Amino acid sequence: MKSFKEFQRTHTCGELRASDEGKRVVLNGWVHSWRDLGGLIFIDLRDRYGLTQIVFNPGQMSPELMAQAGKLRYEFVVSVSGVVGKRPEGQRNKELSTGEIEMTALSFEVLNPSLTPPFLVEDQIDAAEDLRLKYRYLDLRRPVLRDKIILRHRVALAIREYLDSQGFLEIETPLLIRSTPEGARDYVVPSRNNPGRFYALPQSPQLFKQILMVSGFDKYFQLARCLRDEDLRSDRQPEHTQIDMEMSFVTQEDVWEVTEAMMAYVFEKVIGEKLALPFPRLSFREAMERYGSDKPDVRYGMEIRDLDDILAKTQFRVFAEALKSGGTVRGLKLGGGVAMSRKDISEVEEVARKAGAKGLAYIGLTEEGYRSSISKFLSEVELDAIRAKFNLCVGEICFLAAGSFAETCAILDSTRRALAAKYRLKGDNKWAFLWVHSFPLFEYNKDERRYDAMHNIVTSPYSEDIQLLDEGFTTDIPFGDSSHPWARIRANQYDLVLNGSEIASGGVRNHRRDIQEKMLNIMGISSERAERMFGFLLKALEYGAPPHAGIAPGLDRIVALMTGSDSIRDVIAFPKTTAAQSLMDEAPSEIDPRQLEELGLKIIKD
Ligand code: ASP
Repeated sequence: MKSFKEFQRTHTCGELRASDEGKRVVLNGWVHSWRDLGGLIFIDLRDRYGLTQIVFNPGQMSPELMAQAGKLRYEFVVSVSGVVGKRPEGQRNKELSTGEIEMTALSFEVLNPSLTPPFLVEDQIDAAEDLRLKYRYLDLRRPVLRDKIILRHRVALAIREYLDSQGFLEIETPLLIRSTPEGARDYVVPSRNNPGRFYALPQSPQLFKQILMVSGFDKYFQLARCLRDEDLRSDRQPEHTQIDMEMSFVTQEDVWEVTEAMMAYVFEKVIGEKLALPFPRLSFREAMERYGSDKPDVRYGMEIRDLDDILAKTQFRVFAEALKSGGTVRGLKLGGGVAMSRKDISEVEEVARKAGAKGLAYIGLTEEGYRSSISKFLSEVELDAIRAKFNLCVGEICFLAAGSFAETCAILDSTRRALAAKYRLKGDNKWAFLWVHSFPLFEYNKDERRYDAMHNIVTSPYSEDIQLLDEGFTTDIPFGDSSHPWARIRANQYDLVLNGSEIASGGVRNHRRDIQEKMLNIMGISSERAERMFGFLLKALEYGAPPHAGIAPGLDRIVALMTGSDSIRDVIAFPKTTAAQSLMDEAPSEIDPRQLEELGLKIIKD
């Protein structure tokens, strides 16, 4: 066997150009494809940089080597040494960066053969995702996926560049922490040194980044892995990466400004897109009223209109009952002369039903008049008023939902998204960023009959609303009523939305122990329990904690949007399935009985 040095590459497979004609070069890579054209063998050699065409010509090579070349198959790793030549006119490939040249092989070496791969390393394949995940190393050789992973690296690098230029320090926080109350379920790790005790894996570095503020590191960031043991909805992962940030002596505006500038820097640097700054803003209330969602896709309109006044005296039982019980009737219009068949409408009704609607009414306007599921229940005056409200023109249709405010939000949000997807409404703005702010601090938990933090237990209330914390303890207004003082407290909590996906969440934190404790109290967390759960943060707040605020954009989601990926699995090198399994290394797995014993654990099988 020759030493590796002899067949080490001089160039990559994406590098050679017409100007390299005549050079003696060595390429290393994978056999992407091969063709035997009556004596001449053509190979496309691939590495992460590209493809180069190589010709094996019996005129240039011994019969033994030619015979070996004939046995090269998919994904063999080879080293080929040869001469660069221009491809004959007419055989140049403009699609390929190396399309002007080919290499004539003089000798080669198989560095390692390959089993027949279970799918081809091509962009377009129909292999099931499970198979791709099992053979992720082959999947990652596919240029589409490779490019996404490379882009992710560029994004991470640009983030670090930008934040460093603004004086941020990247500081690592521990992976083994105590179980803290962050909303989702913790992954836990038994401690061998401390039998019966457990670490938790962090759901986010939240408490540690706050403590770093107490430590005086006034601008912190970390590309941090966050682990949550959740039931995975289709596009969640048990581990995800956040661009975790925290700052001292700042207001919400400062956090928004840095985040906007960072996004603008990253989008321009990595994909050459100029973002319009500042990003538009909507309060939570306004977002729910206009779009039925706290993460609306504002690339397109279809805003929700309230029809309560118009229908105040309606005879239509469904609407009348909704209004009588304090609910609402709202709707939205699909404009733009889209002709919807009865079947198209049923599809949308089905979406609404899944979002909790008992029915979704529609009113369309045709040359012949109204076309509606409910026209016989509504008076002419009502129909005309609805038509005026939506400015409904011939060829247009509107959809109406009745129920509580929250129910109509869910129904119309789903309807709006479904219509936008079905009719590919995109609007002019490719990157529709939006700040949603002023979320309620608390959310009523009907089952437990108490108030929970709507987002994050460390988020501070609006200073104007602080007195409502105390008022809530003495009021006669029942729990769950929208006028209860606790229901009215606004939080210094904000989300950043991009094209209808939440890509960041953050807030101004409680830096005073008394306010933080009062909030915990309201959430039914006793002082002892609070002390047990995160006494270390409460204590730190008493040692000169500065006012601080932060945010945590989700790296996976951002890269998925930038690369037009349907799933965040496509921008994570080694993702897990929705059953939280890794099909390649087969995690999670059983462990050795000896390990269990060392940990003092026993598995109880059902
Ligand atoms: N820790 C929060 C989260 O993980 C983000 C933040 O408020 O900074 O959602």
